[in-house]
Amino acid sequence: MSKQTYLKPTINKVEFAMASKYGSPLKTQKIRSEIDGVKVSDLVEQYGSPLFVFSQTKIEELYHNLYNAFSSRYPDVQFGWSYKTNYLNEICKVFHNLGSIAEVVSEFEYQKARALGIEGKDIIFNGPYKPYKDLKIAVQEGAKIHVDNLFELNDLEKIADELGTKIKVAIRVNMDTGIYPQWSRFGFNFENEEAYEAVKRMYDGGKLELNGIHSHIGTFMLDANAYKMATIKIMQLKERVENDFGSIIDYIDLGGGFASKSHLKGVYQSPDVTIPTADDYAEAITNAIYEMNKSDKLPKLYLETGRALIDEAGYLLTSVHGYKRFPDGKKGYILNAGVNLLYTSTWYNFNIELDKRYDGENEPSMLNGPLCMNIDIIEENIMLPALDRGTILTLSPVGAYNYTQAMQFIRYRPAAVLIDKEGKSRVIKEIDDLDTVNYKEV
Ligand SMILES: *Cc1c(COP(=O)(O)O)cnc(C)c1O
Repeated sequence: MSKQTYLKPTINKVEFAMASKYGSPLKTQKIRSEIDGVKVSDLVEQYGSPLFVFSQTKIEELYHNLYNAFSSRYPDVQFGWSYKTNYLNEICKVFHNLGSIAEVVSEFEYQKARALGIEGKDIIFNGPYKPYKDLKIAVQEGAKIHVDNLFELNDLEKIADELGTKIKVAIRVNMDTGIYPQWSRFGFNFENEEAYEAVKRMYDGGKLELNGIHSHIGTFMLDANAYKMATIKIMQLKERVENDFGSIIDYIDLGGGFASKSHLKGVYQSPDVTIPTADDYAEAITNAIYEMNKSDKLPKLYLETGRALIDEAGYLLTSVHGYKRFPDGKKGYILNAGVNLLYTSTWYNFNIELDKRYDGENEPSMLNGPLCMNIDIIEENIMLPALDRGTILTLSPVGAYNYTQAMQFIRYRPAAVLIDKEGKSRVIKEIDDLDTVNYKEV
């Protein structure tokens, strides 16, 4: 008879609050040993840990699913990749190769798109802060300028004078779509007539012409109906402006904000139940256009979807470095990735998967990051078996916003790799080093 391996006995405090009508926390281990056929242990061995991993196969699946939902219902639809959601060059290139133009919200992002070979006419320039010099370059290069505020309108008139031409611009509009808090910080308000008045100002000035109307009603929108409301209001403004000023509005742009399959904190149901499908969003928007359209030509429809096209294609591999026992008996693991790399951990509970099955009882555990900061918590309460140093945990979905908001704070920002459709991985961002971090310091 072979000797059984010794397992340390444990006493677990019963946490009544955890077992609610929604069930108790997961008792079974969630395992992920590979991503698109590539072993996570090989990825860590080859590229180090922590490591962001992106799946090109998943990006393309998400893109085609959403694009088909719209293009099967509407004849003229164009996606613009939201750079701020993830502007790693190779990720942007995947989207551009799929047919997306670029959507940027700063001069930095504008320059990034230009450096990737995107022409001005294929860049949508959004955002509340467009420095004059950069705004002028974007105008000269034929970018789609979405006016945010009245000073910017003045700037554009001045640029029109300097260039001696009329400029075609679009306007950003915010509105009540039944979702609260309402995003009223960006663009001109619909209900209080500021949007209409701004357009009137443009035509009174005689230097600007309106050719598009844009709104981006929020992010992680769980109600497709909000997009129906937004579309109706945009189409109303379009008709009014066309009638009053004789202009032709070529396009409408419904922005982004479609939810990804992230698990919002405090929401108990699975994202599969709570999150509208691509068809739900597409149906809401395209039906409203057909219903409202009075002109003989349908407007071109732009979408600036970010998170719904990348979130589930991104993983963060992180490794166990240390552990301790907290005064309340809970086990605390120290991982090499924390809130420095997971800005969105404030709002979402990630899927946390182990590289393999571990023996032993699950115990209530907390996952902490590597920062010397009390707030560096990735997961407060998770049932985990005893983990060894070097255990790889895969966190997902983390493709949206986490890389672009990753901080060089206390530790270097890690490398990122892309797994292509043949299952080959390659580095798309090297780990920072002292030179990149100190670059340009005196
Ligand atoms: C951030 C942003 C987007 C993308 O939003 P998601 O929620 O990632 O889809 C689109 N348009 C504008 C103007 C934005 O600011």
